[in-house]
Amino acid sequence: MHFTRLSSYESGEVPVIVRGDGPWVFDEKGKRYLDGMSGLFTTQIGHGREELAEAAAKQMREMAYFPIWSYAHPRSIELAERLAELSPGDLNHTFFTTGGSEAVESAWKLARQYFQAIGQPNRYKVISRYVAYHGATLGALSITGVPAFKTPFEPLVPGSIRVPNTNSYRPAPIDPAAAIALAIEMEGPETVAAVFLEPVQNAGGCFPPEPGYFERVREICDETGVLLVSDEVICAFGRLGHWFGSERYGYQPDIITMAKGMTSGYCPIGGMMARAHLIEPFRHGDATFLHGVTFGGHPVSSAVALANLEVMEREGINEHVRANEGAFRARLEGLRDLPIVGDVRGAGYFYGIELVKNRETRETFNDEESERLLRGYLSGALFDAGLICRADDRGDPVVQLAPPLICGEAEFDFIEQVLRSVLTEAWKRI
Ligand code: PLP
Repeated sequence: MHFTRLSSYESGEVPVIVRGDGPWVFDEKGKRYLDGMSGLFTTQIGHGREELAEAAAKQMREMAYFPIWSYAHPRSIELAERLAELSPGDLNHTFFTTGGSEAVESAWKLARQYFQAIGQPNRYKVISRYVAYHGATLGALSITGVPAFKTPFEPLVPGSIRVPNTNSYRPAPIDPAAAIALAIEMEGPETVAAVFLEPVQNAGGCFPPEPGYFERVREICDETGVLLVSDEVICAFGRLGHWFGSERYGYQPDIITMAKGMTSGYCPIGGMMARAHLIEPFRHGDATFLHGVTFGGHPVSSAVALANLEVMEREGINEHVRANEGAFRARLEGLRDLPIVGDVRGAGYFYGIELVKNRETRETFNDEESERLLRGYLSGALFDAGLICRADDRGDPVVQLAPPLICGEAEFDFIEQVLRSVLTEAWKRI
């Protein structure tokens, strides 16, 4: 099982989820749960959409698989064109993968090979933020900022540097944009290839940027010749009420990495989109971007992604998120009367609730308390109450919510009721 303590099922059963319908999923005994995490931030348009199943079946009948190494097929061409239309500025070249880690790997590799090609071979380093998760493969893991995930696999890929994030609840001692400028200066700009940032950082609990942050980071990247990679594996495809998270915060990335919501999870796909000038060195002579994966841009996944984007557009999913995110936020903000709720933060349909031992002092839980609270009680109690969400302690303890983008008042009420009763009980057990 991925990222799961196998021992946690020594005395209990593994939950087997067999069916989905809209924002709800059902286990093998028929019990219903609200999919408050959209699977893993994927199921934007909800479960059970016939149209996507039909798109997959049609594509399988026509041509199930052909590689995009030296060839192309219609659905990946159409999908690349569609993504170029939807993405900001001149981000109009897509390189497909099968998921997010590969997208991040690909972005780092493109940045490195691009700088080699334009005569700046020393630019290989990357900067990312503490606690940020950028994937599990060795390159992406090197960019990831969660020490516990990295330690067993050291030494990792050299040249990955960490800086603080924006956190209005627990502000860093240094301005987070200035920290990026400082890191570039300390390393030497001529050695730094890229900065990897999520529009809203997931791990640690949904940290939105502070006003002006991305504007300043863009300026720093322009001044130093460093590429700005927007890791939108979670934040694209409506999660923040826009096709891309960078659109919401008004900045122009050099590369966007994406996956998850592109097919609403109906089929695996990922990719990166790059600005035109990054592709230029590969257009001539014997130059080749020396990278690829067998199933990148799989025809069936591409067909499903196109169908998903069509549904999202037809049903106005981005507009729906923008119209309803205030109501979602208000329900979660309503939980601030509970003594265990320290902070509520996020954007769109992507929120984290930070849990604290003392609201006045913002004191957090120690490791033992956090273990007892999150794994010993909260995860199981929320699930038993019919709400699938994430109780996470990669940073300070948080409960995270990212419901399907079709959710509205009824689901928000359900989320609020379950959280209120489970968090009230959790406080009594501390
Ligand atoms: N980047 C970000 C921001 C992510 O949240 C994730 C996964 O959650 C990844 C990369 C890795 O994606 P995948 O699990 O599809 O490899």
